[in-house]
Amino acid sequence: MGKDVRADICEVGKLLYDRGYVASNDGNISVRVGENEVVVTPSGVSKGRMEPGMLVRCDLDGNVLPGDASGRFPSSEVKMHLAVYRARPDVRAVVHAHPVFATAFAICRRELAEPYLPELVLNFGKIPVTDFAMLSTDEVPQSLMPFVHDYNGVLLANHGAVAWGGDVWAAFDLMETIEHSAKIYKAVHDLGGGVPLAPEDVAHLERLRAFYRQRAAHRDDATASDSGTTGANA
Ligand SMILES: [Zn+2]
Repeated sequence: MGKDVRADICEVGKLLYDRGYVASNDGNISVRVGENEVVVTPSGVSKGRMEPGMLVRCDLDGNVLPGDASGRFPSSEVKMHLAVYRARPDVRAVVHAHPVFATAFAICRRELAEPYLPELVLNFGKIPVTDFAMLSTDEVPQSLMPFVHDYNGVLLANHGAVAWGGDVWAAFDLMETIEHSAKIYKAVHDLGGGVPLAPEDVAHLERLRAFYRQRAAHRDDATASDSGTTGANA
């Protein structure tokens, strides 16, 4: 985690906005800074124009913490972030956005699943799509639960994408990978479909992924106080 979590969140917000991953007040970012404390982007503010003092401190139930000086409400989608933190103690940051190509795949309910890109297969297996969940309800965190342990990012049906990781940069990097992959898949589909990797090559990459996860888990055991890695993100 960076030394200045608030500055990192604002920088990631500006990147999300400048890259067109969000429009207007879309999207939200959070970082878990303690056992029961999260810093989250406020409701109703463009991610491109955030100041560190606008960010809201809340607990893992979504209650604004005493002493919070932002004067703002947490993002309406904070429940989705909190559900990930409750399910995955190794996760320290969550980024949610509406990137154009990833969101189009989410609307078409098409996973990024064809084994076209060895690095995607190696690092993530695939990027699945959740069931549709009504905005700002408990359905949104529930829709993540089938995937939260096995993946670090998903497409949200008819909504956007969400990524999580060991720090806010890992979560942002995965969001970038999801959108970049969605663009490549779209180009491949426009060309009439690509040649997927052979099953034996996919199996090889899956064995490598399992190896890297196991090795990351051992590193986590060795440095139990350092929760900077996700384990699932080789
Ligand atoms: Zn959204």
